[in-house]
Formats: sequence, structure tokens, C-alpha cells
Amino acid sequence: MKEVSEDSIAKQRKLFDEFIRRRGLKRSAQRNTVVDIFLNNTQHVSCDDVYAIVRRRGLKIGYSTVYRTLKLLTAANLAQEVNFGDGVTRYDHNYNFNFQNHYHLICTLCGETIEFTSRAVDKSQKSIARKYGFTPQHHKLEIYGLCRECQAA
Ligand SMILES: [Zn+2]
Ligand SMILES: [Zn+2]
Repeated sequence: MKEVSEDSIAKQRKLFDEFIRRRGLKRSAQRNTVVDIFLNNTQHVSCDDVYAIVRRRGLKIGYSTVYRTLKLLTAANLAQEVNFGDGVTRYDHNYNFNFQNHYHLICTLCGETIEFTSRAVDKSQKSIARKYGFTPQHHKLEIYGLCRECQAA
């Protein structure tokens, strides 16, 4: 599993605090706890996943606080909603790839996701958009198939 550096977490926490201030929201200890859980997790987590961690730690934080915090992280551009075809909204970490585009390989059997960056993909998506006179705002690439382990099984 990938490690999140303390440095990266501190930077993201600061960005989030600035966002909260700009929005004119009050600081909240519960919300900060949810932010920390999210930032320390490198997986694509759903609201239910984060809430399960809250419960496991015996924290008194409601589901709606978890939900709203994930929405705020998204609005602050630290998280991004992703949907891998199973109807579950998960939250991705924008900071992991230094806010660069990253793409996903998704195993349809075990749900494993592999993240990657690719200059070639970035470039070709831009040139395709240009060819059709299209101004891209964002794009994503998801490749569905079987991971190495599932192919071997
Ligand atoms: Zn991702
Ligand atoms: Zn698999």
C-alpha cells in the first residue's frame, strides 16, 4: 500500500482549512477528524467506507457529517468523485498525483483498481478534443478487465 507523507497531509490540511475559511464556515473538530481519516487513506473510499472507520474507532461522528465532509473535500478540490460502474460513489485523492490527471484500471472480478498517469493519454485526449473543435474541461479514462491475480485464478 502507498504511504502518504506527513508533509503531504499537512499541506492538504492547510488547503482544506483555507477553503473552510473562504467559505465562511466554522472549524469543526468532527469534520477535521473525518478529513484526517480521508487524507491518511490512499484507497478510493466511499462514504460508507469512511463511516465504517469512524465506527471501528468508536468515534461519535454521524453519517451526515462524514457525507458532508467528503462533499467539502471535493469542493476544495482535494477529493474527486469516481464511479467504477458498480453504482458506488467513491472519493479519490487529487493530491496523490500532484493534482495531475490520473487514470484507472479496474478489475471487474475483485474490484482492485490500479492508478496510473500517462503523458501520452493526456496528449491524445487533448488532440482528439481539438480535432472536433471541443474545449475539454476534464476527462477520465477507465479500463475494465481482469487483474493479474484474477487471471491466474
Ligand atoms: Zn484514483
Ligand atoms: Zn482482480
